[in-house]
Amino acid sequence: MKRRDFMKAVATGSTIPVVSNFVTTPAEAATYSVGVVGGGMAGATAAKYLRYWASKLGLSVTVTIFEPNANYISNIKSNEVLVATDPLKAISGLTFKYDNLKTKYGVTVTKAVISRVDPNTGEIFTIVNNAETSKGKFDAVILAAGIDFEYGDISIENKTAIKNEIAVPHAWQAGPIGEQLTALRSQLRNLTDGKEVVISIPLSPYRCPPGPYERACVIADWLKRYKPKSRVTVFDANPDIQAEKPVFEYAFNTVHAGYIRYVPNMHVRKVVVSDSKTKLVTPFIWQNGAWVEQTTITAEVANIIPPMKAPPIVLKTLAGNLDASGRWAKISEQTYQSAGFSKIFVIGDGISSKQPKAGHIGNQEAKVCADAILRRFMGVTPYPTPVTNSACFTPITTTEGFTRTATASWLTALYRYNTTTSTVDHVAPSPVGGVGPAWPVSGKPSKGLYSDMNKWFKTLMEDTFA
Ligand SMILES: Cc1cc2nc3c(=O)[nH]c(=O)nc-3n(C[C@H](O)[C@H](O)[C@H](O)COP(=O)(O)OP(=O)(O)OC[C@H]3O[C@@H](n4cnc5c(N)ncnc54)[C@H](O)[C@@H]3O)c2cc1C
Repeated sequence: MKRRDFMKAVATGSTIPVVSNFVTTPAEAATYSVGVVGGGMAGATAAKYLRYWASKLGLSVTVTIFEPNANYISNIKSNEVLVATDPLKAISGLTFKYDNLKTKYGVTVTKAVISRVDPNTGEIFTIVNNAETSKGKFDAVILAAGIDFEYGDISIENKTAIKNEIAVPHAWQAGPIGEQLTALRSQLRNLTDGKEVVISIPLSPYRCPPGPYERACVIADWLKRYKPKSRVTVFDANPDIQAEKPVFEYAFNTVHAGYIRYVPNMHVRKVVVSDSKTKLVTPFIWQNGAWVEQTTITAEVANIIPPMKAPPIVLKTLAGNLDASGRWAKISEQTYQSAGFSKIFVIGDGISSKQPKAGHIGNQEAKVCADAILRRFMGVTPYPTPVTNSACFTPITTTEGFTRTATASWLTALYRYNTTTSTVDHVAPSPVGGVGPAWPVSGKPSKGLYSDMNKWFKTLMEDTFA
């Protein structure tokens, strides 16, 4: 297929109309290289599409993913692991190999934690035997390393020998620290019926806006069956539910009535782990310019989800080119190029954007970024107004322990880059869904949406890894 024909084909079938405005003739013989730090939702997609589209274009591009884990474990649907009868089976359904990226698309996957990237030269480094070792110099580097957690002003006094991550797990990263997911699951299993479960939600922006509310629903549903005298208290540092508000209000007040207590404007700043089963959780509210301590709750399960920020490799590489909060990468949402360094691109949860921090949109950002990099190699201007879309499906009830069919809800949103404001506009919700406000479109929890969730997950993960 000729390059021009391919451009036409992609332009008609994708939300990302790849190249239609050549400005120069690319150097046909050159070989370009891209290093991708992180083989998660965003990084794996970028690597696959860089190779796939380059081959269609007849462009020689080598792509290397640097990733410490042998497989990727999805955070999406990981809340269901918490209540799964067979957690190993549940986790295996969330585990994806890099084999297809290697064999079908010719991506090189190198096992390494990247310790430093030179933002000017594109050289990538790792530590081997305590010595910094170069992993090569790349024409473009994509940082797709997810998020990091910042406990900051949350004090955890732990009087046990159990490490904090296990005593009060966030369980918000299924992959590299997946032990937290299974630790939280064990705490639920060992919960004394009648004792409290606490979930604390950090201030936005955080990974997966509906995720913590979804977790409250999944746990409450399970409690009804296995620990009917126990309850979930949700302390939300935000003033209100951050996504799918009508759905979660309906779920908290109707579906799980009496099982979930939702308390907004509450930032958990103090946790005392007295013994393996007793956690004293103290929320604070911000009043008249100071934190004011509120009543302490004694819980047996304390799922403390701390505030989030871009991962260390992003903060270190882009120092001085972060947003005003100093927590997220400042990038162009037209290309995902760093504001300060022309060789560095950042995609996924680590960026400053009004797009949510979610796997589906990470997949979309990756395609826009791959397109922009290929255009760069070809000497072509970036596509002016790329469109991305996001979807989050939310289980409200599950099948665990019940003979009934599970239910789910969902939200979706569409964004388009605006060349006048140099940021993305929230264009419209997609025209599907059920009840709910104009934005985001939320479907009333239903059996049909639960089945759609599984189809959507399969398709998204195949688009990323297969
Ligand atoms: C409970 C829960 C439910 C969710 N549900 C949904 C949903 O329904 N829909 C949705 O769209 N999203 C959902 N998400 C969010 C989604 O999982 C994340 O937004 C998504 O994984 C972000 O993709 P990413 O590529 O930025 O990061 P990740 O997928 O976390 O990938 C980052 C990768 O970078 C690697 N890495 C990190 N540092 C380095 C380094 N220094 N060197 C090399 N590699 C490194 C890590 O090992 C990891 O593999 C959910 C999240 C949670 C926690």
